[in-house]
Amino acid sequence: MTEPGLAIQVTDLHKRFGPLEVLKGVSLEAKQGDVIAIIGGSGSGKSTFLRCINLLELPTAGRVTVHGETIEMKPDGQGGLMPANRKQVQRIRSRLAMVFQSFNLWQHMTVLQNVIEVPIHVLGVPRDQAIATAEALLKRVGLFEKRDAYPAFLSGGQQQRAAIARALAVQPLAMLFDEPTSALDPELVGEVLTVIGDLAREKRTMLLVTHEMKFAREVSNHVVFLHNGMIEEQGPPDQIFGAPKSERLKKFISSIH
Ligand code: ADP
Ligand code: MG
Repeated sequence: MTEPGLAIQVTDLHKRFGPLEVLKGVSLEAKQGDVIAIIGGSGSGKSTFLRCINLLELPTAGRVTVHGETIEMKPDGQGGLMPANRKQVQRIRSRLAMVFQSFNLWQHMTVLQNVIEVPIHVLGVPRDQAIATAEALLKRVGLFEKRDAYPAFLSGGQQQRAAIARALAVQPLAMLFDEPTSALDPELVGEVLTVIGDLAREKRTMLLVTHEMKFAREVSNHVVFLHNGMIEEQGPPDQIFGAPKSERLKKFISSIH
């Protein structure tokens, strides 16, 4: 049984791409309202970890539980796992909103269409209601006046704020951010961090992969340092950034500043 209040529970997650073992037994618990920052060098497995949680990648072994519901897996006949229940996967994935480095808005849809697409077509929200919710979210991220624009006509910061509105529109159980500001010009980073910071202060459950260490220290209540597919060190932000123990973490933090 999962204890109440647990939003995401990952147990002994492994992921292998052919001969390359990218995740070597990662376990993590996010309680509701937790903001967990995931840091680590390039190639340490951060993106793969997030992608395994919402099953954009299939774990080779391990267990993922979202709001008390364990994703049912079965052997895929090739030494890995596959979902045993596609409906369950679609349902859980649709409620774990992921925000990518590269925005990933649907280019052939307007901002508003991007935000209402999943609520209407996956979650079955009536169109009028989906539009009303989307407009409120676009106001919130400062994009209401751009609702009929296509993504190509927006700045990177605007596109990422639209992607965050789209993520919020599914009333996510948790939000997964994968380096949401890494692709932005420096002058556009702040407007996106402001939106994410507000969500963190509202106590939305989130896992946040980021290289913005100052921001991670401000908004998270727990920090996980991944190295080579394993958790090398974790703890409260003041400890991780102020008094790191592992040599690798010390080196990583000083390399980023
Ligand atoms: P990070 O996000 O920390 O930079 P990733 O999770 O993207 O790391 O990648 C971890 C390792 O897994 C890297 O060595 C990367 O090349 C490898 N990898 C990621 N995705 C794939 C894939 N689809 N096929 C093969 N190797 C992959
Ligand atoms: Mg990555």
